[in-house]
Order: sequence, then C-alpha cells, then structure tokens
Amino acid sequence: MFVWSVGRQLKRVPKGKKQTLQCGNCKQEASFYESTVDESFKAYMVLDLWKRSKRVMQCGECLGVCDYYSLYPEEKQAEEEAARKAEVERKQREQEEMQKRQDTEAKERARQQEESRKKYEANKARKDQEIDDELAQMKKKLGK
Ligand SMILES: [Zn+2]
Repeated sequence: MFVWSVGRQLKRVPKGKKQTLQCGNCKQEASFYESTVDESFKAYMVLDLWKRSKRVMQCGECLGVCDYYSLYPEEKQAEEEAARKAEVERKQREQEEMQKRQDTEAKERARQQEESRKKYEANKARKDQEIDDELAQMKKKLGK
C-alpha cells in the first residue's frame, strides 16, 4: 500500500467508507476514511477551469492517504469506463470548439478580404472620378 501525504486540499467524504488497515506509512492499525483531493487544472486552449477530485482513503493516525482504488479495485473498472466516456465526450467537444473557431476565423478572413476589396474599389472609383472631373475641367478651359 502506497501512502503519501497531502496538503489542505483534502476533504473527508461525509458518511464515506471506513476501513481498518495497517498503514503503509505509520505502520499502525488505523481506520482509513474515504476522502477526496481536489486537483485544479486549466484545459489546454480553453479557458474553462476543470476541477477534478481524486478519491483517496486517509489514515486516521498519520493522516497519510492512499489511493482509494487500491483498496476497492472493483469500483475502479466502472469509474474508468465512465471516465473514458467523459474523455471521449470532452475530446469531441474540443474538436467541435476547434472547428467552430476555424470556421469563425475563416469567415473573419473572408470578411476582411471583402472589406479591403471594397475599400480598394471605392478608392479606385474616387480616383477615377477625380480624373474625370479634372478632364472635364480641362475640356471646359480648352473649350472656352
Ligand atoms: Zn498512517
């Protein structure tokens, strides 16, 4: 049994599992209590803050913790299955987000191109008009 110590982000699960075990850390027969450890992390490229809780069992004597699933391996498979599903869904969502972002960027690029084309044409039309006006004035002068 691997026992490590954690900081204050550990929370005892109310009415959680309790089991008497020999602690791998303090070597005492101690009651272990189901607890969770929060891990926060930022998802890549997305500003959502995900919060993940890790299930542990905490030694009532030395407060060291060990992995919950090392004590209850039968629960591991079901949760791994759920986690896999969640991961697939997360990836799918991420892909959709990326697709959406790419679409938006493409649209924005097209819009900018269209805008500069319009600007160019408006500019050209204005210059043409100026030349026309100048020519008209010259003709007027020459015509007397
Ligand atoms: Zn202990």
